[in-house]
Amino acid sequence: MTLATQRRDLRTGRSLWMARPAPTLPERALRRDVEAEVVIVGAGISGAMVAEQLTEAGLDVVLVDRRGPMLGATPASTALLQAEIDVPLSRLARRLGADRARRIWRRSKLALDALRERVRRLGVRADLASRDSLYLEGDVLDAAGLRQEYEVRREAGFEVQLLEPREVKARWGIAGRAGLLGFDSLIADPRRLTAGLLQIACQRGARLYAPVAIEEVEAGPRRVLAHTAEGRTLRARHLIYATGYELPKGVPRLGHRVCSTWALATRPQPSRLWADECLIWEASDPYLYLRAGPKGEVICGGEDGAFGDEARRDALLEQKIATLQRKLARLMPWLDARADFAWCANFGASPTGTPSIGPIPGQPNCYALLGYGGNGITYAALAGQLLRSELCGRGDPDAELFSFTRKF
Ligand SMILES: Cc1cc2nc3c(=O)[nH]c(=O)nc-3n(C[C@H](O)[C@H](O)[C@H](O)COP(=O)(O)OP(=O)(O)OC[C@H]3O[C@@H](n4cnc5c(N)ncnc54)[C@H](O)[C@@H]3O)c2cc1C
Repeated sequence: MTLATQRRDLRTGRSLWMARPAPTLPERALRRDVEAEVVIVGAGISGAMVAEQLTEAGLDVVLVDRRGPMLGATPASTALLQAEIDVPLSRLARRLGADRARRIWRRSKLALDALRERVRRLGVRADLASRDSLYLEGDVLDAAGLRQEYEVRREAGFEVQLLEPREVKARWGIAGRAGLLGFDSLIADPRRLTAGLLQIACQRGARLYAPVAIEEVEAGPRRVLAHTAEGRTLRARHLIYATGYELPKGVPRLGHRVCSTWALATRPQPSRLWADECLIWEASDPYLYLRAGPKGEVICGGEDGAFGDEARRDALLEQKIATLQRKLARLMPWLDARADFAWCANFGASPTGTPSIGPIPGQPNCYALLGYGGNGITYAALAGQLLRSELCGRGDPDAELFSFTRKF
């Protein structure tokens, strides 16, 4: 018997997504024991991506969430969906070797491209749109480091453009910074994306029970039993923890840690934002990143702190938002940088910026996804692909790169 997951106060404040309507879902109370082929614990973006994939493969899925769907970290997300991993390819290659680093970056790109195509094919209405992504020199990669990153990415087959400071200034009005321009990232409303995928899974027969807290799990070679706080039991062939930053117990961490982050959204700006409304992020630590919102707001975040303590995170909200406003105003002086929405949340980091996805060692038929960091949504899409292959018995050539048993 394993205790299920940690419990955290995941976020404070209000994100702009929470002020926008999202579709309602057919969630219901759990009044008796149930059986399914797969139980997914967690109905945020990760649970939604996995449920959508598994129901398409014909599996019988039950989803549970102790808060309710889309009430965890997902509505706090700023939702810049990028294939470019927070850890630059040149740095990752130094750490893991060029071959592994390239494979990880390529798979991230493949997962994002597949997500774009899937959302379009399924007709999910989530304000999904393509955006280029401008990566600015900073204290992690200076101009020379950016040039090297450009070369390494080109050698790996990525389309990317290196921009001198004068080109960045001429196109975006940002002074004194070289940049790398990547193509075909995405933006979305993370709540609507989650709701749309969950709706599709439910239309295919998935059952969504909430609020239901899984307290203990008994993993066995033939079946898994998940016990709820109210004394109900879910029986399944497989159990998947899609529990975000409330980490499942007994899962190898592989350097993953929960930390804190802050974000704001301005009012809709009265005048133009910036060229192409591309995603903008810095090769800095801590970094600043921004995107346009659905009505011409600026959504901006960063200033990450290497601690998960919620009281400390919340106490810093005012100070961190003031810093974000100041940095935003400095970067783009023509914007009104005042926050209309301000929020903070738990976040994740791993030494390589990569997620861990797959079977949990020592817990038969149980799987987890720790889809960390600034690519959490891309990694949720990747988890959908990998876990579908795993549960359908086909396997995936990249599974080992993200597994809990990897040796790097
Ligand atoms: C401020 C912020 C900005 C971000 N920006 C980006 C970005 O720009 N791009 C990007 O790709 N990613 C970004 N991320 C990361 C991304 O948003 C997250 O990785 C993602 O939302 C996590 O989704 P999830 O479904 O894994 O977790 P959650 O949304 O937290 O869902 C997990 C669910 O599991 C439930 N749960 C936990 N334990 C149990 C239990 N024992 N029983 C029942 N239910 C349980 C919880 O109630 C919760 O609802 C950002 C995150 C934050 C916080």
